[in-house]
Amino acid sequence: MLNKNIETFLGCDAEYQDAEIVFFGAPYDSTTSFRPGARFGSRAIRQESSGLELYSPYQDRDLADCAVFDSGDLELPFGDATEPLRLICERTETIISAGKRPFLLGGEHLVTLGAVEAVAKQFPDLHIIHFDAHADLRDDYLGVKLSHACVMRRCWEIVGDGRIFQFGIRSGDRTEFEWSREGGHVHTQLFDFAGLENVLDSLGGAPVYLTVDLDVLDPSVFSGTGTPEAGGVSFVDLLSAVLNIMRKANVVACDLTELAPNLDMSGVSTATACKLVREILIAMSSIAK
Ligand code: MN
Ligand code: MN
Repeated sequence: MLNKNIETFLGCDAEYQDAEIVFFGAPYDSTTSFRPGARFGSRAIRQESSGLELYSPYQDRDLADCAVFDSGDLELPFGDATEPLRLICERTETIISAGKRPFLLGGEHLVTLGAVEAVAKQFPDLHIIHFDAHADLRDDYLGVKLSHACVMRRCWEIVGDGRIFQFGIRSGDRTEFEWSREGGHVHTQLFDFAGLENVLDSLGGAPVYLTVDLDVLDPSVFSGTGTPEAGGVSFVDLLSAVLNIMRKANVVACDLTELAPNLDMSGVSTATACKLVREILIAMSSIAK
């Protein structure tokens, strides 16, 4: 007998009822402020993941031993962001209320808002660790509140003061930095991951949402993104920061956003994103610990 073609992220073929992590894509990029293409990110990551090994030499663990279910990409309308965010929130709620951990693949960074809304409902003392080149703290972008340039400001409205810790930030409007610094609303670490260790020590067992905007990486290793910013972190730095978080924090959900595969014809950016997905999935899995 032949089987039908079902393409999942590499090794993510657990049954839904057995899975502890549920993967889904949100192929949306309508509010991208510069170069579009992030809508193709989740599909490219899934497709290109076949080029990876299941085994992680970094963790001495194998993705094949982890119970991950790939629920595919959501079908999202383009244009106004309200309905796509509602659909992302709904999918996240379904996963969380089943006692599983969601892993969302963008899409542009605004998709995070839908997931955070659902996760914060389940975990009212939710904290967010945010890796990005951009602060994403604008109150509005050209009059629009639902934009990837405002996503962390919208998340702050949900979780409140002192709950968002951002790292790697090297771009934004002056007012975003002033708002973050003077108001003490958000912890903003410029350029790198300095201080992450202290943040992790202070969190204890609090629930954490990890959001990774891949443009935190230097464009020399990750050019496939809509708003590249020189002066970013290396892949090894990002990987070690992510693994540190997974080891020490109670990560209840996470996402990876802003790969625009069409902007890097070499395919290196997509391969880099795939590798990070594998490492996060393994690190998140309790079987692998
Ligand atoms: Mn962002
Ligand atoms: Mn960014």
